[in-house]
Amino acid sequence: MSVKKKVPVRQCVGCQEMKNKRDMLRVIKTADGDILLDATGKKNGRGAYICFCRECLEKAIKNKGLERSFKMAIPREIYDQLREEMTEIENG
Ligand SMILES: [Zn+2]
Repeated sequence: MSVKKKVPVRQCVGCQEMKNKRDMLRVIKTADGDILLDATGKKNGRGAYICFCRECLEKAIKNKGLERSFKMAIPREIYDQLREEMTEIENG
């Protein structure tokens, strides 16, 4: 019998699929109430997870997945900022 390592999986707030945590992007809410993409996975804060793609970000915006995760209303400006950050990550 082989010992299988348990891979931590998280649900994408966009497409709702369960994926390996390492293949996902962490979105956090800081103590100040800011919503940020955490590309390093090391920032402190309450986290939600999303796939590395614009499509899932758009889905998360549409289905209010992030608002549900963070239990707060998310202003348009924050979504715009997340879109920009996602584009930077995609291009980088
Ligand atoms: Zn997804």
